[in-house]
Amino acid sequence: MDLLHRGKPHFNQLHIKHDEQTGLRAIVALHSLKLGPAIGGCRCIPYSSTDDALRDVVRLAKGMTYKAAISGLPHGGAKSVIMRPPNLPDSGPEREAFFEVFGEFIHSLGGQYLVAEDSGTTPADMNVIRRKTPFVLGSEDGSGDPSPSTAYGVRRGIEAAVKHRLNRDTLEGLHIAIQGLGAVGFSLARDLRAHGARLTVTDVRPALIERAVAELGAEAVAPDAIFAVDADIFAPCALGAVLNDHTINLLKVNIIAGAANNQLAEDRHGRLLMERGILYAPDYAINAGGLINVASEYEGFDADKSRDHQTRIYDTMLHIFERSAVEKLPTSVVADHIVEELLGA
Ligand code: NAD
Repeated sequence: MDLLHRGKPHFNQLHIKHDEQTGLRAIVALHSLKLGPAIGGCRCIPYSSTDDALRDVVRLAKGMTYKAAISGLPHGGAKSVIMRPPNLPDSGPEREAFFEVFGEFIHSLGGQYLVAEDSGTTPADMNVIRRKTPFVLGSEDGSGDPSPSTAYGVRRGIEAAVKHRLNRDTLEGLHIAIQGLGAVGFSLARDLRAHGARLTVTDVRPALIERAVAELGAEAVAPDAIFAVDADIFAPCALGAVLNDHTINLLKVNIIAGAANNQLAEDRHGRLLMERGILYAPDYAINAGGLINVASEYEGFDADKSRDHQTRIYDTMLHIFERSAVEKLPTSVVADHIVEELLGA
């Protein structure tokens, strides 16, 4: 794999740790340190091979650089992955020993990398890591669950899209289709409803749909039917790669703005959306509220300051939309250009 010359800016560092005693096999990818110490979560999931783990960590680290830079954070992007051993318990002394060794590994990087939780790791794991290093964010007594901040930032991004495309200052009466009612999606649904939006929702977990119908008066559709809902806005909050040749043909909305990571199946789908007249809110810019919240721990957590920063996602999105209109480029391309200018790439 040609890791050192993939795209711009080039990859910075890869660090690998194998500990015989605990079975820890971990990789840290530092994508860019240009704007400051790099932040990124630690995934602890099963991988079928070291190559798979490497591919995942490299892809994710680059995404973190872009997310931090577009959000105006004084941080670079990184990620770590742990190849989860099949017998790793969910809690207890064996898991603690495992994460202590991982904490030593993080400490050995000297503060260039600030680790946080991600799939397969928990705030309790971050507490264990903290025994060995101060370079950890989002432990149990830290900034807490990032999902409500992510949802808040997405709502601000939706408001910016509505201002730009529909020239409206409120969400009152707008129809929004939400895919995925998990930690972010449900919080977003509740917030949008409180701001007067009408909701159509879906999930693969029927209990979440029932709750949205009962609590928020939402209309429900089957998972496959969400793309064809005749609404103002589609908010993908479930999976990646949901915007592809098939789904883009089905869409009947003016705006796509949601929390999911890597929404475009391929880069060219950003252009296809523009050609179809659909305003796309680039995912890593609109879904950065959780990262902004966790990053604020680095300088001593201040909830008000963090919220102010999340509020400014509105301005970031408006800037991307306006520049896209002037330059006649897809919003996804404009967002990348803004980051690459910031990084001097
Ligand atoms: P989650 O796992 O809590 O929720 C995802 C929901 O999507 C689940 O309820 C799941 O049942 C549902 N789902 C899965 N497949 C579906 C399908 N085919 N159709 C409809 N629903 C489906 O995850 P989350 O934390 O809410 O994150 C949602 C998305 O936002 C993910 O893509 C995540 O990477 C991204 N994101 C999350 C955060 C955060 O702070 N949690 C931050 C940035 C980005």
